[in-house]
Amino acid sequence: MAVGAKSVEQRHDGEATDKAGFAAEPSDEERIFRTIMEAAQVGIFVLQDQRFKYVNPYLTGLLGFSAAEMIDRMGPLDVVQQAQHELLAEQMRQRSAGVGGHSYELLVVRKDGSTFPATILGSPTSFRGRPASVGTLTDISLQKAAEQRIRELADYDVLTGLPNRRLLRERFVQLLAAAERDKTEIAVIFLDLDHFKRVNDSLGHSVGDDLLCEVARRLDSVVRRIDTLARLGGDEFIFALPGIHSTAAAEVARRLVEVFSRPFEVAGHELTVTPSLGICIYPQDGLDLESLLKNADTAMYRAKETGRNAFQFYSSEMNTMTLDRLLMESNLRRAFLQREFILHYQPLVSLESGLIVGVEALIRWQHPELGMIMPDRFIHVAEDTGLINPIGDWVLCEACRQAQTWTEEGLPPLIMAVNVAPVQFRQSGFVEVVAGALAASGLAPGCLELELTERTVMHDADINLGTLSALHRMGVELSLDDFGTGYSSLAYLKRFPVGKLKIDRSFVNDLETDPDDWAIASTIVSMGRSLRMTVLAEGVETGEQLAQLRKMGCDMAQGFHFSRPIPPAGIADMLRLQPFANR
Ligand code: C2E
Ligand code: MG
Ligand code: MG
Repeated sequence: MAVGAKSVEQRHDGEATDKAGFAAEPSDEERIFRTIMEAAQVGIFVLQDQRFKYVNPYLTGLLGFSAAEMIDRMGPLDVVQQAQHELLAEQMRQRSAGVGGHSYELLVVRKDGSTFPATILGSPTSFRGRPASVGTLTDISLQKAAEQRIRELADYDVLTGLPNRRLLRERFVQLLAAAERDKTEIAVIFLDLDHFKRVNDSLGHSVGDDLLCEVARRLDSVVRRIDTLARLGGDEFIFALPGIHSTAAAEVARRLVEVFSRPFEVAGHELTVTPSLGICIYPQDGLDLESLLKNADTAMYRAKETGRNAFQFYSSEMNTMTLDRLLMESNLRRAFLQREFILHYQPLVSLESGLIVGVEALIRWQHPELGMIMPDRFIHVAEDTGLINPIGDWVLCEACRQAQTWTEEGLPPLIMAVNVAPVQFRQSGFVEVVAGALAASGLAPGCLELELTERTVMHDADINLGTLSALHRMGVELSLDDFGTGYSSLAYLKRFPVGKLKIDRSFVNDLETDPDDWAIASTIVSMGRSLRMTVLAEGVETGEQLAQLRKMGCDMAQGFHFSRPIPPAGIADMLRLQPFANR
């Protein structure tokens, strides 16, 4: 494209000029100057009042605009992305103030909308007697691409395209800083293929390479975007998983092992390989990448010793803890299918009449080898794994069935209190599950009381209000368990259709000796009073505690002082001994 097309305009001093600002009849000097400009392999422009006054052919070629389109009509801001306008405007201000420039980088936008990186260097000058600037623009796309390629070669493993040790180290510095700041953990997993050398030796290195690529692809699909999967070379892969504790790391490791359960198809071969994994956790197993890698490596060798195709933690306590838990999880599933859960019942006693007016259903796991396992040991695992829903539904049905059976046996009607876990309460269709348990057993809704903790109710209080109201309309009673340990807001408490507060047993425990506990318990009693709720004290073990609670005006109590949780037959016997039984 020719500069200064043929259009001619009138210069302020009356001399005819072309669009580029040159005289129509150029002098020799100007002609030489123009030849240089037109031949230059760099974009050159003159700028005045933020408009182009001259652009050389190389620049118009780069941008796709003609000189006529640019001169006097466009300025640099028209060929740069919005995000960089401020930077550019500042540069132009400095040039027009006579400040010399140094080169800076911009992303330039062509007429067709495409972009390319460029460096710009401007310096102040004068044009037609007024301040202006002259600038050069260099397309640096090739240079950028080369830099990118160099970075890739330096940071990524050429075979698999995964980050290499260098990039892993770089990222780990950031992970460590974040973990230290947020007091979170990082799991480092060392994965090594078992007997990989055999593949190389028997099928050749190119098959081995293809296998490594396939393995890398599958491993990569298991981890999250924030995780780093790197290849250290050979058949060694490293995972850096931020914000992950040991149980979650074990879960990832299990999934990684699972990745190898299907054979890999490589060059017409079906290859089965297994991995050995070592896990260690920042900060307890090491404070920097080198020691974490070393310890994960040690753990990985232990996994190989214990039979390959498995994972091991570096610290042995963690091994037992996590394995216990995984074992617990699969055991729980089995236990549910084999009907190993049973319910015991603990009397709820009215302090006014001294009579048993209800029972709380408490789950136990009757393990065929380990004997009876108490809920504190398995309920949280059931909650974490979602198993609490089927288990909880079973408890509801079984407790309702038992209560109705007692009624049909002629025993006085009782309140059947059933614990509901947060996850279970929030599962969709919980109201229907309750309605189903009542319908199947024939129990009157007023005989069923659901025990929720403060945390369950207060979490998403507005959503829960809907569920609570639906249950309340059905006629089901609601109580707040372990009361005093949560953070109930009184304002909310008033809105909830909850009829009973159960003072947590930690306050009842030291009632006689700890004035603070006494104060908390008596405050809960009077608060419950004023909200017209029934107050029950949990964990009453002594006559003295009972006397104190009576003095406060507490309505009900539960605890070893009256009875431990016992099998249903024991409850029936106890009820028959009560004065009103068999009436
Ligand atoms: P919780 O609902 O607060 O149940 C009362 C716990 O206190 C029971 O423990 C009971 O045995 C114990 N306890 C009762 N009286 C006394 C006493 O005088 N002294 C002492 N030291 N303890 C007493 P358990 O049966 O081990 O249950 C523990 C927790 O497990 C329960 O606390 C409840 O949160 C949960 N849980 C039990 N059964 C179920 C269930 O079916 N579903 C759900 N989601 N959770 C359950
Ligand atoms: Mg309870
Ligand atoms: Mg409780």
